[in-house]
Amino acid sequence: MNKNNKSNKKHIITLIDHGIGYCTNNVIEINRILLEYPDLFEEILEHELEHFKGSSLMNDIKTDFLPNKYSFNFKRNLQWFFFHLKHPIFSLQTLRPVWHNKGALNYNGSVILSYLFFILIFLIMKYYF
Ligand SMILES: [Zn+2]
Repeated sequence: MNKNNKSNKKHIITLIDHGIGYCTNNVIEINRILLEYPDLFEEILEHELEHFKGSSLMNDIKTDFLPNKYSFNFKRNLQWFFFHLKHPIFSLQTLRPVWHNKGALNYNGSVILSYLFFILIFLIMKYYF
């Protein structure tokens, strides 16, 4: 998840009741249900903090699309699998490109980029094959 105005300010962590994890300005939002899954909570927190390590779009793309230290961790992937089975709504909410929350319109640049990529692949397949 990415937004503008990243800085080295201290980050505020707020608990939310939708999706999984997001970062906006210096606020990191994590679904409160993840408090019941400390390993997953820690992983999401690390992921969101990674977004603040650079201010460029490339950093966001790197953070969201390249493998991290947990990508090939079988136990962790199994934990996520069961989390997604148990909380499908929160998992599906992470696929929203835009959403309305507390009077503000939020967006997830990485999800928008993913959809644009799939549309591009679809168009290439449709017109060139
Ligand atoms: Zn992210």
